[in-house]
Amino acid sequence: MRGHRVAVIPGDGIGLEVIEAGKQVLEALAKKSGDFQFEFEDFDWCSQRYLEKGEYIPEGGLERLSKFDAIYFGAVGSQDVPDHVSLWELRLAICQGFDQYANVRPARVLPGVNSRLKGADEIDWVIVRENSEGEYSGNGGRVHQGFPDEVGTEVSVFTRKGLERIHRFAFNLAQSRPRKKLTLVTKSNAQRHGMVLWDEVFFEVAKAFPEVTIDRELVDAVTTRMVLKPETMDVIVATNLHADIISDLAAALSGSLGIAPTANLNPEGTFPSMFEPIHGSAFDIAGQGIANPVGSFWTAAMMLEHLGEKTAAECLMAAIERLTASGLQTQDLGGTATTRDVTQAICSDIESQ
Ligand code: ATP
Repeated sequence: MRGHRVAVIPGDGIGLEVIEAGKQVLEALAKKSGDFQFEFEDFDWCSQRYLEKGEYIPEGGLERLSKFDAIYFGAVGSQDVPDHVSLWELRLAICQGFDQYANVRPARVLPGVNSRLKGADEIDWVIVRENSEGEYSGNGGRVHQGFPDEVGTEVSVFTRKGLERIHRFAFNLAQSRPRKKLTLVTKSNAQRHGMVLWDEVFFEVAKAFPEVTIDRELVDAVTTRMVLKPETMDVIVATNLHADIISDLAAALSGSLGIAPTANLNPEGTFPSMFEPIHGSAFDIAGQGIANPVGSFWTAAMMLEHLGEKTAAECLMAAIERLTASGLQTQDLGGTATTRDVTQAICSDIESQ
């Protein structure tokens, strides 16, 4: 029996609901397979903890987390904690602490899901987001705070090492997919230092991947191309900020933020990788039991694949597609089903296969 140790950090808001749902689905898959099992350990690292104890992650927390095979993460964000504090103290502390430099975000319209975009059926993208530096490197500062002469700087940091590894990762991914296409997203017309380096390193890495068809698009232009010509793109590589923005657009074009998954990968396996739905804590619907858990199921499938459970990952993805095709949908997709209804339906389906 193969065993997988998974650290579970539900976090805040609907993170608690969708991660609980995802754990049930993972347990159902393990039971069905009989070949592997999960050892889940829950971590109460959330905004409530921060408000009570002044910290999201306790002393030695990352060291404890580093012993796991993977991390299953919900969402972080609270109306009582500034967003830049919650993000940096929990999610980014893990992503950067564990050098999870490749953030992978698939976008596809699942069967039965209606997109507002005509021709959305042709969306089949994977956005690769540089996850360790760029605009979110944390480099900057503020002086003369509160005075009329106050200045704040936010310095984007691009390193050759960081760029080489993310472009190489994106090329390898593009090469593994049937269409073998890779679009470089950039803003090197206006930003003439870091972004020009970003482009140069991309074209250097490209030489080792002759089978991959490449093109280059400015970040503003890529938003229109995503809407008007979705079929012309396959894998997309973009910086931390650019990919953050275009992947929310990709999620909305594919139906709902509630569906989209993401993986924060440390491809070398030096540290555990982290899997999460892309949505945030969604205070407006938290605690009502109506959150769409599909994003947390899809990211669970990515986690299974990462853990080497390819068959179970395929089985889960097929179950997700049968679920969305069945029309049992939560409110965000126009349905009336609850988180629990959807979770029970997919677990029963997995058991019956
Ligand atoms: P962030 O932490 O990114 O600032 P947020 O809580 O402000 O997040 P998101 O979670 O990204 O906002 O989502 C925006 C809105 O989309 C939510 O307020 C909610 O109405 C809807 N939404 C997001 N995820 C889901 C979901 N899983 N199910 C249903 N609706 C969702």
